[in-house]
Amino acid sequence: HLSWDKEVDVLVVGSGAGGMMSALVAASNRAEALVIEKAAQWGGTSATSGGGIWIPGSDQAKAAGFEDNLDDAFTYVRGLSADNVPDANIRAYVDNAAAMLRWLTANTEVEYVAQPYPDYHAENPGGSAQGFRTHLPLEFDGRKLGRDVKTQRFPSPAASLFGYLQWSFAETYLLLYRTKGWASGLAKSMARYWFDWPFRFTSRKDRRLTLGNALTGALRAALNDKGVPVWLETPMREVVRRDGVVVGVVVERNGKPYRIRARKGVVLAAGGFDKNQDMRDANAPLYPAARYSGGVTSNTGDAIRAGAEIGAGTMNLQSAWAAPVFYVPGEDRGRLCTIERALPGCIMVNRSGERYLNEAASYHIVGQQMAARQRDHGDASPSWMIFDYRYRHLYPMGPVLPLMPDWMHKGAVRSILKKASTIEALAGKMGVDPGKLSATVARFNADAAKGVDSAFHRGEPAYDRMYGDPRNQPNPCLRPLSEAPFYALPIYPGDIGTNGGLQTNAKGQVVDQEGTAIPGLYAVGNNAASAMGESYPGAGVTLGPALTFGYIAARDMTGAN
Ligand code: FAD
Repeated sequence: HLSWDKEVDVLVVGSGAGGMMSALVAASNRAEALVIEKAAQWGGTSATSGGGIWIPGSDQAKAAGFEDNLDDAFTYVRGLSADNVPDANIRAYVDNAAAMLRWLTANTEVEYVAQPYPDYHAENPGGSAQGFRTHLPLEFDGRKLGRDVKTQRFPSPAASLFGYLQWSFAETYLLLYRTKGWASGLAKSMARYWFDWPFRFTSRKDRRLTLGNALTGALRAALNDKGVPVWLETPMREVVRRDGVVVGVVVERNGKPYRIRARKGVVLAAGGFDKNQDMRDANAPLYPAARYSGGVTSNTGDAIRAGAEIGAGTMNLQSAWAAPVFYVPGEDRGRLCTIERALPGCIMVNRSGERYLNEAASYHIVGQQMAARQRDHGDASPSWMIFDYRYRHLYPMGPVLPLMPDWMHKGAVRSILKKASTIEALAGKMGVDPGKLSATVARFNADAAKGVDSAFHRGEPAYDRMYGDPRNQPNPCLRPLSEAPFYALPIYPGDIGTNGGLQTNAKGQVVDQEGTAIPGLYAVGNNAASAMGESYPGAGVTLGPALTFGYIAARDMTGAN
């Protein structure tokens, strides 16, 4: 009895990396594809991200002289992932990731470079301490997108300067250490931005796209070349299943229900339930705060619920890509804290004024430890980043930028920044026991002066040192907090998205609770339960699989073996 308003071969829900990749591969295999996007901007959290992808055995790594071994990569992920994740899913990822990247670079204009970025658990069997599994994108010229660049999601406030200026990973270091040429480099970038006249009058968007904007920009440009439309402000409401087979979806278009038939299949790529407080309360008590998630506001788990309604299984809904975040009042998401924790001259304490972790560990490990601490002791949300004047002068701390006096920061940032001439007075402003905080700082300082952290071994693992300041010796991550005034900024256990979701098989097909595939329905990215389980093996393990399973699913759907 259903009549359709439109028919396509492949209907993709969500315009993040997973969704656009699925549509692009489908279109390349001569399927008629359509992407629908709930928000007024396309690109999802993927556009706001670092754009890093974790790809074992890539051509790029080989060219850099790193001989990877896919069995090692499998062993490594298997050892970290959850027991309920099938071997076949991990195998499918590990075996197809490099082919996906080869396809991506051949069919879009994005270029990826393998990085000497150690795996997050490099010491585990199969881990790589050298790195070369994490890849980062080179910049992409947004002019190739024409007007569509204006409706692309802005980069995260955590990965852009003043909320608009885009930069690359290499430039982060240029600015971070203010190495030779940093000021002229920055001036040039700003001039390029402000003198982009026709654009400056109509949009705040920077046309030089980096990181996640570069990846999603290149995917969108390729979709445009192939004539694949992306319909904005078109939320999916329902998955339609008939006689066991998924045949289409009901979306909302111009405020009215609109039915789209999908002859070959539907790909759910609508992200996690990052911003759905009720779904978090019901499923993920360890990661309770929707507000602190770095995901985009439109990721509210719609397609996880719609899948479950027609019989799909769900898995690991208790899990998230845990991360420490700063939160600036009024903003719609937390700001991921990646680098600052490893720099010398700062520590993180709980509300009792005690250190409780190695600050310089990967964001996922720190995020999980903060969340567990909050669950068990109730004193870690917020925790506090404490730093001294020298740190303040040299490095950024979340929204607080060096060389910019306090008064130049916006009111919301000033409202959360505490400052005092002694540690005791600072503790008073934080509402923390002054005796405890000064004892913590004194203990840390005595150790740091010798370049050791006997309590938490900060600066010993390879990962810690990567983000430390190499000019600071003997330990690039440790220096006493000694120069007044002292500062404190609240930091929260948050996440960069949830990662439990619909249960899928090695082809990216959605399965029911018994593991039987639901014909016509696929799920990728954070819409699906991750092959990583509750772990974070290395930088890029969320986007790498989103792209790879998008590639696998679209090939399966369009019969490309
Ligand atoms: P998304 O990119 O979030 O896309 C989902 C899209 O679906 C959204 O546009 C949303 O509006 C849309 N949608 C939602 N509901 C509906 C509906 N009902 N109908 C239609 N559309 C809908 N991961 C990495 O691997 N590497 C990194 O370097 C990295 N850096 C990060 C940095 C930051 C600051 C943050 C916040 C995250 C980072 N991540 C990184 C995590 C990564 O960005 C996400 O895990 C990933 O983007 C998820 O991709 P996705 O395609 O599943 O979802």
